Amino acid sequence: MKNNPLLRIINLKKRFGDKEVLKGVSFEVMEGETKVIIGPSGTGKSTLLACINQLVNPDDGEIWLKDELITQAKDINKIRQRIGFVFQDFGLFNHLTALRNVMIGLTKVKKMDKDLAREKALEQLRKVGLEREANLYPAQLSGGQKQRVGIARALAMEPEIILFDEPTSALDPELIGEVLRVMKDLAESGMTMLVVTHEMGFARSVSDEIIFMENGYIVEQGSPEKLFKNPENERTRQFLNKLS
Ligand code: ADP
Ligand code: MG
Repeated sequence: MKNNPLLRIINLKKRFGDKEVLKGVSFEVMEGETKVIIGPSGTGKSTLLACINQLVNPDDGEIWLKDELITQAKDINKIRQRIGFVFQDFGLFNHLTALRNVMIGLTKVKKMDKDLAREKALEQLRKVGLEREANLYPAQLSGGQKQRVGIARALAMEPEIILFDEPTSALDPELIGEVLRVMKDLAESGMTMLVVTHEMGFARSVSDEIIFMENGYIVEQGSPEKLFKNPENERTRQFLNKLS
């Protein structure tokens, strides 16, 4: 079923100055798969996502999106349109309504007609349960609602994969659930997702596979059952024990 690689990362390396942040990272994300990355902070998780989204240039290694080597792509914007990104701090434009935040990529990047863009944006806001909030500004929304706008905005571009970088870690605890629910629905609808998170309940119940990253390396990867019940690596065991 989920055996067509959509994203392939091969021996990815990145250093900032003399600090090696990614030390040779390789993995695949299959079409329709939800893969979760866990690991301590400072481990290179955000840098990894930034490399995939071409916000950061890796020093070495390859990133393939389907059959395209995107680390050598000439048109970065074209590649970015195929990869959705959901930020920890939402990344919304505060001077634009929820609707306009979702529309803007459609009109500016995809050059879509305004009426059609509005229709598409509303459809995505409906999907995340925010149709009634369409005309509110970010300042009038809760953190959970803001992040759902962030997800609607990513979805509106019809990406092939969505990357989530700690999408709930800026939220008050009582608002985390509504965002995770939207993400769970998305995963079940067959969206391909790569999610960095500390939400172990989500990782355990929604992901197809979990990657444990530490200090620039993938220490271990496997099914949630295996990783949580029977981790092979002592480092994985220690990390998971610390959380529970
Ligand atoms: P994580 O997301 O796992 O917490 P990051 O990828 O954000 O880890 O960061 C990994 C390391 O790389 C950290 O030590 C961080 O300070 C460093 N780093 C990240 N981005 C930059 C940058 N643009 N310039 C210099 N150092 C950076
Ligand atoms: Mg990070």
